[in-house]
Amino acid sequence: MTQPHHYRTATLLVHQGHDRDPATGAAAIPIYNASTYHHPGGQGGTYDYSRSGNPSRQQVEDAIALLEGGVRGFAYASGMAAIAGALSLLKSGDHLLAPLDLYGGSYRYLSQVLPQQGITVGFVDTTRLEQIEAAIRPSTRAIFLETPSNPLFTITDLRGVAALAKDRGLLTILDNTFMTPLLQKPLALGIDIAVHSATKFLGGHSDLLAGLATTADPELAGRLKHYQNASGNVLSPFDSFLLSRGIKTLGVRLQAGQRSAGILAERLRSHPAVAAVYYPGLDDFAGKTLHEAQASGPGAVLSFELKAAEAVQPLLNTIRLPIIAPSLGGVETILTHCWSMSHAAIPAPVKERLGIRQTLLRLSVGLEDVEDLWDDLAAALG
Ligand code: PLP
Repeated sequence: MTQPHHYRTATLLVHQGHDRDPATGAAAIPIYNASTYHHPGGQGGTYDYSRSGNPSRQQVEDAIALLEGGVRGFAYASGMAAIAGALSLLKSGDHLLAPLDLYGGSYRYLSQVLPQQGITVGFVDTTRLEQIEAAIRPSTRAIFLETPSNPLFTITDLRGVAALAKDRGLLTILDNTFMTPLLQKPLALGIDIAVHSATKFLGGHSDLLAGLATTADPELAGRLKHYQNASGNVLSPFDSFLLSRGIKTLGVRLQAGQRSAGILAERLRSHPAVAAVYYPGLDDFAGKTLHEAQASGPGAVLSFELKAAEAVQPLLNTIRLPIIAPSLGGVETILTHCWSMSHAAIPAPVKERLGIRQTLLRLSVGLEDVEDLWDDLAAALG
């Protein structure tokens, strides 16, 4: 790596692991599309075969390790692939604990794929340490976390869970997609592995699917590397280039989106058609103190609940600026109907039990002028 670790996050985002091509000095790491590398005289060098290592991919793998304080980073074909990579550390007979409220795709993987591999999963309210503790079995090996959770923004005490897990010899994995390393540094709080859907804020332009993972533990890093190489679950050189380019502007994008999200959250809260707003930046947000103890900002995503179910379709029909889609973290504002999009994989009765209602909408606030966003929202809310 050419960059020392002591720079602050905003600097590391721009300069990343390598800020110029070692071969030419080019200001951007080239897209190395080679699948394999010459072995002079039969002797391998730094790179051997691109599934095992690629200079374009290395750029983002080093970037996520630097940003999160890890010893090594891993770039995968999607966020779900990163999550699958981290969960590959479990084996048949193991038990995993996971939050009740989490991204629908993660719920699908945990509830449908892992059981087929002989791994059982217990869903618990991870905001309650005593519930985690009560759910730990002799076979429990790991705790998977999301905070703030998607889409209800429940806050889990990362230091508390990490301490409990260490005490009980359990691995902790946090999906840090909503916060990114700019706002939340899970490894510094004691979490073992941070994973990201880099499709979201890190990529930042809704033009890429990617996943990242990192750990500060060299032994875990070795096992993650083994799985990544053995399974071929890797990010392509072109997508690595796009992701590296996106990461360079994360600081300004996320700060701007966060500013606008705070304004929209306040205004939505006082709108007569809105029953509730979930956003860690609001003064009366239930988990505010805890969130602020472990993250440096509320982020650029919020959820809000309409009072009337009949108001959802007219809003989706009339709103103009946001794209209506199951994603977040783009330069454009993205509105998600969680019930039918991001959380479609969760059975209806489970969603109802968790409080993910048909009236819930998630807003990822982009870089448009906030007054245009508000005019649009207010008009669509009626
Ligand atoms: N984690 C969270 C919090 C997400 O919101 C998503 C996707 O929406 C994922 C993981 C999965 O990421 P990907 O779609 O890149 O596979």
